[in-house]
Amino acid sequence: MRPEALNPLFAQVEMLEGVGPKLMKPLEKLGLTRIKDVAYHLPERFVSRRAVADLDSASEGEQVVIALTAIEHRAPRAGSRGPYRVLAQDDAGNICALTWFGRAAFSGKKLVPVGEKRWVAGRLDRYGDMLQIVHPDHIETESAAHMARLSEPVYRLSDGLTQPRIADFARQALGRVPDLPEWIEPGQLERAGWPAWREALRLAHESTDPKARDRLAYDELLANSLALLLVKADGRRRRGQALVGDGALRAKLQLPFALTGAQARSIAEIAGDMAQEAPMLRLLQGDVGAGKTVVALNAMLIAVEAGKQAALLAPTEILARQHFETLRKMLGPTGAEIALLTGRAKGRERESILMGLLDGSIQMLVGTHAIFQDTVNYRDLGLVVIDEQHRFGVAQRLALAAKGRRAPHTLAMTATPIPRSLTLAQYGEMDVSRLDELPPGRQAIDTRVVAIEREGEVIEGVARHIAGGQQAYWVCPMVREADGAPDMADIAAAEARYASLKERFGEAVVLVHGQLRPEVKDAAMERFASGEARLLVATTVIEVGVDVPSATLMVIEQAERFGLAQLHQLRGRVGRGSEKSTCLLLRGAALSETGRARLALMRETQDGFRIAEEDLTLRGGGELLGTRQSGEAGFRIADLEQTQRLLPIAHSDARLLMERDGGLTSPRGEAARILLYLFERDWGVQLLRGG
Ligand code: ADP
Ligand code: MG
Repeated sequence: MRPEALNPLFAQVEMLEGVGPKLMKPLEKLGLTRIKDVAYHLPERFVSRRAVADLDSASEGEQVVIALTAIEHRAPRAGSRGPYRVLAQDDAGNICALTWFGRAAFSGKKLVPVGEKRWVAGRLDRYGDMLQIVHPDHIETESAAHMARLSEPVYRLSDGLTQPRIADFARQALGRVPDLPEWIEPGQLERAGWPAWREALRLAHESTDPKARDRLAYDELLANSLALLLVKADGRRRRGQALVGDGALRAKLQLPFALTGAQARSIAEIAGDMAQEAPMLRLLQGDVGAGKTVVALNAMLIAVEAGKQAALLAPTEILARQHFETLRKMLGPTGAEIALLTGRAKGRERESILMGLLDGSIQMLVGTHAIFQDTVNYRDLGLVVIDEQHRFGVAQRLALAAKGRRAPHTLAMTATPIPRSLTLAQYGEMDVSRLDELPPGRQAIDTRVVAIEREGEVIEGVARHIAGGQQAYWVCPMVREADGAPDMADIAAAEARYASLKERFGEAVVLVHGQLRPEVKDAAMERFASGEARLLVATTVIEVGVDVPSATLMVIEQAERFGLAQLHQLRGRVGRGSEKSTCLLLRGAALSETGRARLALMRETQDGFRIAEEDLTLRGGGELLGTRQSGEAGFRIADLEQTQRLLPIAHSDARLLMERDGGLTSPRGEAARILLYLFERDWGVQLLRGG
């Protein structure tokens, strides 16, 4: 049960004055459905303006507040789509135009009557030989009011919302924020000089005060650490079962290759964990192609040898099928029974799988989340393997996997190389095995950085490549807005690229992006996978589940706009067959120092772990400021820099609290419960007895 103190924060946004049915959609797009969401919708930046006496003392491009008197209104000619202009002059007689386009012209007509003085806030620009302010941010009748406009928050918006609107909602939401008991350790609070929670929220909306922002970020990190520790503690309490295999099944495996050192080490680590009564919580990290499947297979066989069942959870139907086929082939000589269960299985087929799981005749199960539905019961589940962990809410999934009375061992696998400093944030105190060695015989991917001016040569290169009987990818950037909607300009660019390549290559080109209907997308993928199409133009949708060994060339357009981890994953799509592969990173003309270094790193190494670590170092500090990198480490408030700096502190704070008060019953423990609910990590609380 959520603590009552939080009720005002979890009230719906409709409670705010001015939020009607029309604004619900735009607010929802920003993820603002409850009062607390609005209170935590912190300004992206602040605009600061200078009050200037006259236009002479302002410079072009500057944000100013200035007193102007309108002298003439110039409406666009009837039927023309020109702007509505008001000519106005300052006290020294300098002329400036106030300009409104489209429907906004309404404001111009109304707000600046001829002959009257107004205080105008906005950005001063030049239009031809005239100064102008396009769509002034504010127009005030009182000089006093303009002073309040000298520094102002700028919020992320969605279509239908304006800055003043959202600023007003934020103000109202803050007015409803209750005082909450302090959950941060008093010593830490004092050392850091942080304000109390409610005060920090208020300050974060008013200024760039780093202390307020840090405190709010710390709260989120603390909540996360605590929740992960609760899951772990719960696992410890709910004893698991020590599983030791006799090696009989593993001895029958006939692998066409020898295990790499890293694979053998990881399997030994897993076997060691499974032999303990405490349930295993281990993360297996390894690049695409590092050979995680065979490690998982060995773990699953240990469980089966010990007379238990093992389940493998895949993020998508396609991947589940792929795993099933691969495992079934490898299992051949062992005689172990394996089944596939996805949402598609219906009727008799499903019934027989459920029966087999219940009576134990099915020893291994592969599937999508369908394998954890309430109707699916195992005779004795000893191990759960979760593939592509990052696609699920990590700890949430763990809590779910641990539902049985006897907790199964859990092995999570991910191909996302996460810097060590962030592993803690995402996976808490999971033990980590790393496959930091690729199977032998992999060819290095020849990676080159090419200026976009040489596009013509690149296209000729693609032509030669295709003529030689091979296939290629052409990747266009796709920036998703924070609400998950794609940037339409990027879609348009991908479409345009496709159109121009189609002129050159005709039917050999197909296009895939997220805005296409699934049938259209599937058909295009199908044509490419079958080899009928030779060139696939795509946005990053090809990241998941595509394996076309004869595609050996990848062109990535505007490579500087991609995250390095993403580039790395994309590049992993080529270099899968025996042919030599090439990756061309096309870069734009204006490239920052860091941008250059990042692309150089891609050229230099194929080691995903190194790329992840250095990317973090390269972006640390300067470039991170102002850009919200949230989401990357899974946090809404804490950015990457804060995560790195504050997480270790938050984590040891959380651990200390758990040691002293594992049931969260002391006053500070109670406050920590509130924190967990506030950040919706309450699945952690629910694991507490009587929580
Ligand atoms: P991951 O899941 O880590 O991306 P996979 O398990 O799918 O990688 O393995 C990629 C490919 O490498 C598969 O074809 C697999 O058979 C092969 N492979 C795995 N381990 C080895 C090894 N030790 N030596 C040679 N090939 C291997
Ligand atoms: Mg895999």
